[in-house]
Amino acid sequence: MRFDGTTIFVTGGAGFIGSAVIRHLLSDSGARVVNVDKLTYAANLDSLQGAAGHPRYAFEQQCIRESAGLQSLFEKYQPDAVMNLAAESHVDRSIDGPAEFISTNVVGTFTLLQQALHHWRRLTPEKRARFRFLHVSTDEVFGSLGPSGLFTEQTPYAPNSPYSASKAASDHLVRSWRETYGLPTLLTNCSNNYGPYHFPEKLIPHMIIRGLANEPLPVYGDGGNVRDWLYVADHADALMLVLERGGVGETYNIGARCERTNLDVVVRICDLLDEILPSGAAPRRDLISFVTDRPGHDRRYAMDPGKIERELGWRPREDFESGLAKTVRWFCDNRAWWQGILDRGYRRARIGLG
Ligand code: NAD
Repeated sequence: MRFDGTTIFVTGGAGFIGSAVIRHLLSDSGARVVNVDKLTYAANLDSLQGAAGHPRYAFEQQCIRESAGLQSLFEKYQPDAVMNLAAESHVDRSIDGPAEFISTNVVGTFTLLQQALHHWRRLTPEKRARFRFLHVSTDEVFGSLGPSGLFTEQTPYAPNSPYSASKAASDHLVRSWRETYGLPTLLTNCSNNYGPYHFPEKLIPHMIIRGLANEPLPVYGDGGNVRDWLYVADHADALMLVLERGGVGETYNIGARCERTNLDVVVRICDLLDEILPSGAAPRRDLISFVTDRPGHDRRYAMDPGKIERELGWRPREDFESGLAKTVRWFCDNRAWWQGILDRGYRRARIGLG
């Protein structure tokens, strides 16, 4: 079994991607998994119901900015690897309140690196050689593309939002802890994820939930911004592979070659909803309206995943059509999950206009 006998910290394990990683680790590996999460507004332990009683799972409510708490967790569990997914992740929120993004994404990553280094230096030489720190980042650090071209691992960083700038800063810290202190780090930059358990503020779940209620579907700007979509389970699979076989000090771009304009995505969601749950009224496409664009809205992201495909043999299982159909179906079948978030007071009002 993969990762048999190892202990892996997953920070941000109650979030969208972190919970997918934990579900994957518990079902497809023998690792003991420790979910280290502060439980911000974006966290949801309901995404991990199957994990709660699992003999190889532990949850620790812990902020990655707090050294003392982290140090005691490293001493308690003696992890063999850290997968860092804890972050503030919503661009619109970063426009209105960048401080939390600098604090968690930059200072938090720094604090986690320091505690991982402290732990790593005390390991036996064999364990030290096997230890890994995998930092999960985004394609947004590369800035915006024109109509052609792809981001590669060599593309210079040019972040445009407080979110992407904070992620870029954290990526640089991770790289430098490897170069300066020898900590065995790896870095992944991934395109936009979607899938089950996605927090309702992000484009795809936001539109599904509004579409289900036959509410207006507000698309930013002209809807022509392009994102490269990756089904979250494929991302989790890629992260496990990078942790298992990735080269220390290497960076891997992850994407599924699924570029779509935001308008295309919303139109497809409307059509899927009409197929699954016909509203009886006009087609849901008629609910689409265009609203003021996000300030500094990057026009196009597109990943070249050639390196992870060639070197690690990774391939996504879902294309955009199959992944989106599964996602829309999941949100239709799991209303209790997202209704719980709305009932806890999550407001769907427009934010991030600067
Ligand atoms: P998310 O917002 O759904 O979850 C983030 C999790 O981190 C939450 O459970 C939250 O409680 C936790 N957290 C936040 N601050 C913390 C702190 N100070 N200490 C401990 N835990 C804290 O995010 P996500 O979409 O799952 O993204 C996970 C990672 O992947 C992030 O680093 C993000 O930048 C990166 N990423 C996301 C996408 C995407 O499309 N969602 C794409 C590429 C990369």
